[in-house]
Amino acid sequence: MDSSLNATRRARELAEIRDCVVDVLVVGLGATGAGAALDAAARGLSVAAIDAHDLAFGTSRWSSKLIHGGLRYLASGQVGVARESAVERGALLRHTAPHLVRAHPYLLPLTPAVRSAQARFVMAGYRLGDGLRVAAGTPRPLLPGPSRLTAERTLRLAPALRADGLRGALLSWDGRVVDDARLVVAIARTAAAHGARVLTRCRALALSGDGAQVRDELTGAEFGVRARAVINATGVWAGGLSPEVELRPSRGTHLVLRPGALGGLGAGLHVPIPGERNRFALVLPQADGRIYVGLTDEPVDGPVPDVPEAPESDVAFLLDVLNSVLREPVRRADVAGAFAGLRPLLTAGDAPDDPDGGRTSDLSRRHAVITSHDGVVTVVGGKLTTYRRMAEDAVDAACPTAPRSRTARLPLVGARPVPGAEARHPGVSPADLVARYGWEAGAVQELARRDPALGETVAAGITRAELVWAVRHEGALDVDDLLDRRTRIGLVPEDRAAALPAAAAALALGPEGAIPPGRTGTRARGDGTRPAGQV
Ligand SMILES: Cc1cc2nc3c(=O)[nH]c(=O)nc-3n(C[C@H](O)[C@H](O)[C@H](O)COP(=O)(O)OP(=O)(O)OC[C@H]3O[C@@H](n4cnc5c(N)ncnc54)[C@H](O)[C@@H]3O)c2cc1C
Repeated sequence: MDSSLNATRRARELAEIRDCVVDVLVVGLGATGAGAALDAAARGLSVAAIDAHDLAFGTSRWSSKLIHGGLRYLASGQVGVARESAVERGALLRHTAPHLVRAHPYLLPLTPAVRSAQARFVMAGYRLGDGLRVAAGTPRPLLPGPSRLTAERTLRLAPALRADGLRGALLSWDGRVVDDARLVVAIARTAAAHGARVLTRCRALALSGDGAQVRDELTGAEFGVRARAVINATGVWAGGLSPEVELRPSRGTHLVLRPGALGGLGAGLHVPIPGERNRFALVLPQADGRIYVGLTDEPVDGPVPDVPEAPESDVAFLLDVLNSVLREPVRRADVAGAFAGLRPLLTAGDAPDDPDGGRTSDLSRRHAVITSHDGVVTVVGGKLTTYRRMAEDAVDAACPTAPRSRTARLPLVGARPVPGAEARHPGVSPADLVARYGWEAGAVQELARRDPALGETVAAGITRAELVWAVRHEGALDVDDLLDRRTRIGLVPEDRAAALPAAAAALALGPEGAIPPGRTGTRARGDGTRPAGQV
């Protein structure tokens, strides 16, 4: 089946789900819910998956985009969580999303604040992390091991660092996804390719073990969806639909710096947080040149907002930490944007392996699958890295007699050559397009070849062709979908304002005029090779 999501397909499938009983209804289309939809559909079950807003509307788009090897969990004695992370990282790098997930280098600068004993301790941890890689069967060429760099090499990779007293850096590698929201879109489209009905702007008003009362947020129409099993994957909002589930959200803020703000940064940075032992801020250069700086961890009480705000106190804190290692300070005026997300952490009572009930950063990152008295299965906690395993566990719990999960090696859309496309396109596609679309890059480029006006860059390196592609194939229904989730232009308010007319123009073209069938599917000829331009 075609993987394309668009307004036409939504209208058709929305009408269909009112008249049938599906095997599984998944509520929430972040990484976890999209993963559950894919897991169930790939087992041959009939699936409807709904989101009140859009694909990746919630926490999944506010992550640091790390695909963790689980080292920090090992440090806190959570061996099972660490191993699970390393295994899932390996699956993404090798099989499911090698086009979106790559190894990325990180430097821990050895400034006078980092004592030699601490550096030795951290290096020992990195070696343990490398052991996790081996245990998970991820080959070294996909994820290099740690090493120590001289001060000279450190400054070549991170010229903005203060040179005084710098003894070099510890270099480590971990997984990184090019864009968390794109990962969710790829998972959801792969689910659609396996027959799942993926429906955005559909809010679950109430759940029961045999379905949900749903409102179409575009028309206001309310209707019932009947299902043999119901999975609540609404993340930080899960308690609103399943009151048994108690969450203690924790806010994580990132700053967005403009390209060039840290002068040719060639690696991520772990910046020690002054006064804290083994807690680091992250400096994360992005594919579009912007740099994210994160990350706070503050408990949040009260109602859960749709889009959390990044408070000025978080911005000031992150700037202070960053500036503690820089030659020239970054000022508030250099911060082009900021974003915050809420971690869906379970309270101590629900969290498996919870080491203690103290700081939210210490709460377990392990996920939980909780079956309510009425049969609704809630899957919550965890992290982006382990979305696939969370999804598998949820479907196992909701559909105990279903065939076994098939997703551990199932390539997501774009991960494998598409019949008819591979011969002509990947070799000529620009590397940044390949990094975002994998084997679909050629088809995106083809849009601009047919209509050169679509080759124009809108903002942050994104072309009009990409916006049109998102409307036709990635389920974008309005300008917010285009600017805030299919692309991340919206993270910088002035870029967003500049791109609004192009987004409106792409929507006006509508979902028709799609690239011929066969060029957007997932079916693999599958020789395991990577598109040109990938490491
Ligand atoms: C700041 C921060 C940084 C992080 N960094 C990382 C990282 O680097 N690596 C990593 O592995 N993990 C990271 N995480 C964790 C990870 O992002 C989350 O665990 C994960 O994204 C949660 O995904 P989810 O699908 O469970 O929830 P969400 O992405 O929040 O999805 C829930 C969805 O449910 C929908 N919804 C809500 N209510 C309803 C309703 N009534 N009806 C229908 N739909 C509804 C929402 O619109 C939303 O789309 C980070 C988290 C935060 C907050």
